[in-house]
Amino acid sequence: MSGSLAGKVALVTGASRGIGRATAIALAKEGASVVVNYVSSVGAAEEVVKEIGANRSVAIKADVSEINEIMDLIQQVVKKFGKIDIVVLNAGLLWQNGALNNIDENAFDKIFQTNVKGPFFLVQEAAKHIPDGGRILLFSTSLTSVSMITPNYLLYVTTKGAVEQMTRVMAKDLGKRGITVNTISPGPISTDTYFVGKTEEMIKLQRTFAPANRIGKAEEVADVITFMASKKSQWINGQNIQINGGMTVG
Ligand code: NAP
Repeated sequence: MSGSLAGKVALVTGASRGIGRATAIALAKEGASVVVNYVSSVGAAEEVVKEIGANRSVAIKADVSEINEIMDLIQQVVKKFGKIDIVVLNAGLLWQNGALNNIDENAFDKIFQTNVKGPFFLVQEAAKHIPDGGRILLFSTSLTSVSMITPNYLLYVTTKGAVEQMTRVMAKDLGKRGITVNTISPGPISTDTYFVGKTEEMIKLQRTFAPANRIGKAEEVADVITFMASKKSQWINGQNIQINGGMTVG
């Protein structure tokens, strides 16, 4: 296999659908072997493996909000491929009903467990197996950087703010071993989850956030991740990469 990622092993969490799916396929096109993690969509995950080729891809079920499942996932990846060069921590809960007056402790714990605790311990465990030149890409959202944010996103962006901060400090730590750690922050991207609970009016409004007057595509995020996973991004470390067509500037 040729390509800028030939010989590399990538783990993409939540790769059965949406941005994770597009990322798994894009990394594989550049030559990487790819672990397609999922939590419930076994059929969709197997489709991604089929598209990549079963000789260099495998679907592994693991709930990455659970530490014991994270440990098991990493163990399976290392057993199969011997190392992990690229970790894309894409799996996350997009929570649109998290305003101050309707957040209870259960909701708070659930979303923090998936969006913050899981990624934290997954990086901790995976880092033991990532060689020099490795790449870790965590996921936030452009919503942490926009002034027009609405109160219902409080809980969601609180988790993503934590991700952005953990990225900065992990970058200082793992950078000593030649491993870069960055955050990917998409604006609105056309995935199944994006459309859940949104009226046509809301979608129309969100299109206007980008000067091109459209919602982004999962493949557009995947293209940036492919670059970030490559050797060419070596000097980008500890950054928050906005992928939103100009929704946020400066
Ligand atoms: P999506 O279409 O809902 O896909 C979610 C993926 O994550 C699925 O593959 C799902 O697996 C997996 N997943 C969910 N919980 C999991 C868990 N506990 N363990 C393992 N896998 C799990 O999501 P998306 O819209 O592509 O979003 C991906 C990331 O981008 C998220 O971190 C989100 O916060 C961020 N983001 C998205 C947007 C947007 O507009 N779409 C904007 C900004 C940021 P199953 O199929 O098995 O359920």
